[in-house]
Amino acid sequence: MLLDRLAQVTDELRSSVAELDPECLSGSDADRLLEAFAEVERLASAGKLLAARRVESSNIWRRSGHRSAAAHVAEATGTGIGPALTALETARHLGSLPATDEAVRQGRLSETQVKEIAGAAILLPEAEQSLVDAAGQQPLSVLKLRCKRVRAAGRDPRASYEAVRRSRYLRNWVEDSGAVRFDARLAPDEGARLLAAVEAETARLVAAARRAGVDEPRRALAADALVGVACGRSGRVPDRSGSGVLVGGATTGAHTAKEAEGSHRPRCADEPTSVVHVRVDHAALLRGHVEGDELCEIPGVGPIPVEVARRLAVDSFLNVLVTDGVDVTTVARAGRTIPAALRRALEERDPVCVVPGCDTRQRLEIDHLVPFADGGEASLANLARLCHWHHYLKTHHGHRLQREDDADGASPGRWRWTAPDEPPVVPRRIRRSG
Ligand SMILES: [Zn+2]
Repeated sequence: MLLDRLAQVTDELRSSVAELDPECLSGSDADRLLEAFAEVERLASAGKLLAARRVESSNIWRRSGHRSAAAHVAEATGTGIGPALTALETARHLGSLPATDEAVRQGRLSETQVKEIAGAAILLPEAEQSLVDAAGQQPLSVLKLRCKRVRAAGRDPRASYEAVRRSRYLRNWVEDSGAVRFDARLAPDEGARLLAAVEAETARLVAAARRAGVDEPRRALAADALVGVACGRSGRVPDRSGSGVLVGGATTGAHTAKEAEGSHRPRCADEPTSVVHVRVDHAALLRGHVEGDELCEIPGVGPIPVEVARRLAVDSFLNVLVTDGVDVTTVARAGRTIPAALRRALEERDPVCVVPGCDTRQRLEIDHLVPFADGGEASLANLARLCHWHHYLKTHHGHRLQREDDADGASPGRWRWTAPDEPPVVPRRIRRSG
């Protein structure tokens, strides 16, 4: 029976792990082993999900005296109630998601991936297959973004925006050490404005610190930037650049477009420039709501109602990417300058560093696949966003980056990253989907 076979496999696994001496392995053997154990883990969590579903439906948990099926699962698996509730919900959804169920049983999805996909696909079953495919090809952060979009598509955008806005808060408390701590919950557009203003001020402080030879971590300078933005840098209330609404009581909120308009004035050279990007389809912007596959969202933050995007568009410091205006796949320019439409399309296509396995989304740099000096043009097909580390490896250490699929560059794409002086290694994510 299944349980006996599983007991054999477990015994073998146990003795293999007991004998494992990682220091004796070569790097590439260790890499293969990592991959093999990850597969075992995926299969084991698939079995756990399926068994948990039956534990719930069979009511065996009542006999064991547990308060709920989740409590039983939590105790049996050594997790908390929260993860157990999510696992049970995922397991129930699997019953009506055949493509996800099949991928789970084949050990192609990690526990995190299956939770994301099931939670989204149950709301919009027609998105299921594309999410399962995406899990094999794209980083987890991109999969989470796609699932977030699918979940948003199943909700009334205006109602969920208003619900978030109504529940906004700012709390603070003081630690025993005397440190002041904050916790805030903001509407997506207002949060994005604050983040953009803090990010711009952080960039200014980082540059100033570098010039002065001061070695302070970015997160510390970001804390200074928050204080500067909120209290008025250099004893002056910063305005415009998206931050004015947050200080001094000059305006009461970003939702009063008239007031924002009224505060337009030329910006001083030393003020931080912060821009909030909004990605919205042109038709949706005109119509006032999204339909079908259309999007209206702040990249990195999430969906917003079209009317909020319209309000934001009144402010000249908000950068609205109208996705079907210019066909960016045809935009190409010889030279180092990257046209704004192309830059925004690239931010949209590569929300994280394109190197497989790298999820960095902050301060990405734009790389020319064929270098500018060798005649590489600025086009979607020849550009990719990389984190500083991978850009450095490619520029100075001979690492190579190639697209693995269609060359027009419009789709997110699959990438091959090859270290120098090594046989080309196909990154794990691609090999598995292969
Ligand atoms: Zn990277």
